[in-house]
Amino acid sequence: MDISVVVPLFNEEESLPELEAWIRRVMDENNYSYEIIFVDDGSNDNSWKAIQDLSVINPFVKGIKFQRNYGKSAALNEGFKMAKGEVVITMDADLQDSPDEIPEMRKMVLEDGYDIVSGWKKKRYDSKLSKNIPSKLFNAATRRASGIYLHDFNCGLKAYKLKVVKSIEVYGEMHRYIPLIAKWSGFKKFGEKVVEHRPRKYGVTKFGWNRFVNGFLDLASIMFVGKFRKNPMHFFGLWGTAFFFFGFIVIFYLTITKFFFDQSGMTQRPLFYIALVAMVIGSQLFLAGFLGELISRNGPERNHYYIEEKIN
Ligand code: UDP
Ligand code: MG
Repeated sequence: MDISVVVPLFNEEESLPELEAWIRRVMDENNYSYEIIFVDDGSNDNSWKAIQDLSVINPFVKGIKFQRNYGKSAALNEGFKMAKGEVVITMDADLQDSPDEIPEMRKMVLEDGYDIVSGWKKKRYDSKLSKNIPSKLFNAATRRASGIYLHDFNCGLKAYKLKVVKSIEVYGEMHRYIPLIAKWSGFKKFGEKVVEHRPRKYGVTKFGWNRFVNGFLDLASIMFVGKFRKNPMHFFGLWGTAFFFFGFIVIFYLTITKFFFDQSGMTQRPLFYIALVAMVIGSQLFLAGFLGELISRNGPERNHYYIEEKIN
């Protein structure tokens, strides 16, 4: 199969028939063998009914329906599990991404050898200030932190090699950082294509202003997890030792001055309390490091490798 199109959706009933027809037209024009996987993320409108109807008129339409709203990441993750095409395309269901970009993106994956090709909505059609400026900041921060030079991490329109989607797990709100997750799995070639961004035709946006607050918090935690997931002690142990050592030295100094230089009233000196707090924080960090080690040793991905080839 040439292409799997994965479409996560939440309450997008009006857009679906148009989207399916458009994708089908592009696929037929290019003679691709394909599947469209609609992942209904717990919609409470008639989206699932629309998908059922589409699957009757088009046998290449497949669907997954969640019991409740789990989020875009979960929807993508399930779609990825099902995908079988040589190239996997993700796109939003709201007709903001154009299926006409698919052939070019597929070409970049197959001929130019990119593992991921991300869309770049250079010209956007959202309400200006509330989205554009935070989005620029967000992308700049993500670029710096991840070392991946993409302009538009959050673009819903992306193309992947099949093996990329099969070796990553997207959870929580991590759909904004899929290229970074792929980088952890050892993929290196990230490409970008300027794509047409269209105004939302039906329905409303599902992410409010808090997307950026959450986005930055997620970035902080994903960077931390990315760096210290396998060895939390390297972080907590270092800082724990530093704090404890500092406290210990200060207490030692205070003790010496008390006994040998006859300075009474050790507990009257501010330094004493600073040292005490430093030692307490230090041992707490150290303990957190031990706990982190115990937890990561039990993690399911402890011995989870993505083997590329084998000779038996
Ligand atoms: N979406 C989803 N689950 C959610 C929220 C959104 O599957 O919990 C889908 C949504 O239906 C759309 C895509 O994710 O297909 C992008 O959402 P939206 O268009 O609201 O985001 P925006 O374009 O405003 O960034
Ligand atoms: Mg949208």
